[in-house]
Amino acid sequence: MIKNEVRVAFLAAALSAAVTSAAGATNPPEIGKWCADLHRDLLSVNLERCHARAWQNGGSSMQGRPIPFTYWGNSKGRRVLVLGSVHGDEISSVSMLFRWMDFLDRTRKESFLRENYYLLAPLVNPDGYYVRPRTRVNASGVDLNRNFRSKLWPQQALTHWKVKTKSDPRRYPGKEAGSESETRLVEKWIEEFKPELIVTVHAPYGLIDHDGPIQFPKAGGPLPVKTLGSFPGSLGQYAGVEKKIPVVTVELGAAKKMPDQKVIEDILVFIMRAD
Ligand SMILES: [Zn+2]
Repeated sequence: MIKNEVRVAFLAAALSAAVTSAAGATNPPEIGKWCADLHRDLLSVNLERCHARAWQNGGSSMQGRPIPFTYWGNSKGRRVLVLGSVHGDEISSVSMLFRWMDFLDRTRKESFLRENYYLLAPLVNPDGYYVRPRTRVNASGVDLNRNFRSKLWPQQALTHWKVKTKSDPRRYPGKEAGSESETRLVEKWIEEFKPELIVTVHAPYGLIDHDGPIQFPKAGGPLPVKTLGSFPGSLGQYAGVEKKIPVVTVELGAAKKMPDQKVIEDILVFIMRAD
């Protein structure tokens, strides 16, 4: 009897502290706030549906903001890591992940999409996203997409930055590889989730870039497929070139405006059909 009362009291405390969704997902309070903050900003983030997903906090940004992620699909399927807003000022990349999750929820026609197992992290760089004005770099002024611990980082990253970008502060790779908590979190997902495909959403070049072994259909893509090559410390070099995990970089056409719904859906279908 006493045991039951303790259990009930414990449950009541847990429930009052957490946001419980109609679908049954119980997320910690910081995730509830994360959803509410994004919902205020972005039309693409439906508050009820955000709460209804089972989020986990992957870790903290340099300024201590949570970096939530969720799983979707068949846990026995091909593992696909999907990242949004590695660059904090590319707002449409956050929206893209929420639109894709909603599309996955409701699509019946493209049922092959359900056979994959996705780890989705819509906001990898929350400090860059929430500072005003928003920044590409994180709170330390580091371009996370130049900070991965690729083999050539020590010899090339800072030299490349100084010579090729003329020390562009938007492309600073950091004092050393993997210096940023956000970069290390993505590396941890790669190590532990073991993705067979990585999709990372950026803006505003309006194309699909790729590193590592992947073949797209020759025609019919919603955006032109181009190979831009990779930079020292970029995700494409770290995971695509060195670890041979295909990395698809979706460059949306604008950082602040979403493509049409059909294009949003077609991009995911096109990528997931590639070999
Ligand atoms: Zn970007």
